[in-house]
Amino acid sequence: MLQQTTIAAVRDYYTAWMKRFPTINSLAQASEQEVLRQWEGLGYYSRARNIHKSAQVLDAAGTELPKDYKELLKLPGIGPYTAAAISSIAFGLPHPVIDGNIKRILCRIFLWPKWNKERETQASACLDKWIKPGPAGDFNEAMMELGQKICTKSSPQCGQCPFNSLCLAHKENRQNEIPEATSSRQIIKKTCLIICVHHNHILMTEKKQGLLKGLWVFPALQGHELSPVLEWLKKHDADFKGPLVLKIQNHLYTKYKDQLLPLVFRLESTISLNEEKGCWIPLDKIGDFPMASVYRKIVGELEKCLEKKNTRFICLP
Ligand code: SF4
Repeated sequence: MLQQTTIAAVRDYYTAWMKRFPTINSLAQASEQEVLRQWEGLGYYSRARNIHKSAQVLDAAGTELPKDYKELLKLPGIGPYTAAAISSIAFGLPHPVIDGNIKRILCRIFLWPKWNKERETQASACLDKWIKPGPAGDFNEAMMELGQKICTKSSPQCGQCPFNSLCLAHKENRQNEIPEATSSRQIIKKTCLIICVHHNHILMTEKKQGLLKGLWVFPALQGHELSPVLEWLKKHDADFKGPLVLKIQNHLYTKYKDQLLPLVFRLESTISLNEEKGCWIPLDKIGDFPMASVYRKIVGELEKCLEKKNTRFICLP
């Protein structure tokens, strides 16, 4: 849960997760849909699918979580960072973790302008010497916390840092320039969501691949133009009223900001989707279907609109 996510964001999810899935077996036995529903709102859903698959692998083999770093690496979703975190924090084994905070600390200590593959190798060799068996987890957690609280990105507190006598950036008073800033330009996308409503049912599909795999989404088309949406409805023989335009919602993921424009259409009869498996979901059961939090927000807006007595769907000529 803590990959790419802060402790504050994770805390409540962790408590609820451990209550629902207290053992590897209970997680292994759950359906993927239930696992995703429990994870809903945390993002990076591949983590949920992977921990579920790992639980199934361990449960089928009748084993506990392995201590060995190389064995951990064989489980779905566990790479060097997570394997090092588990083996050091849970089992006290001397495997250093290297996260973004630790990269920044090491760049400053050794005056490396930026991080690259060569630095990764040098850093691993150096941390391998520093970390000791037993308190290995404390060492890793202390390094991560040093990066979060002392050697911060914008205002490093060198006076309070245990590395200040050997840190080259501090000696040269260059801690604010190291590491060099990298450009992280956000890419803007535009998407129309086609929300078909028929007698308190809405049409959604389960994503079969990609970022939102296993989650429920609305049929969607790229761009914010209405004509391709009308073409789509025509292609599916939809007899409709609408659209009712809901507020644009931003879906932020990796380097993208996808501006989702929800267009609601009231259909006189159901349609079926030829190209994907669609499902008419009753609105009072929608809570059982896992979806990204931005989609849950749109469903909430839709419900509010449908409850209003004066909501009118216009008829396009
Ligand atoms: S001395 Fe300053 S720049 Fe160097 S590691 Fe510590 S906080 Fe970071």
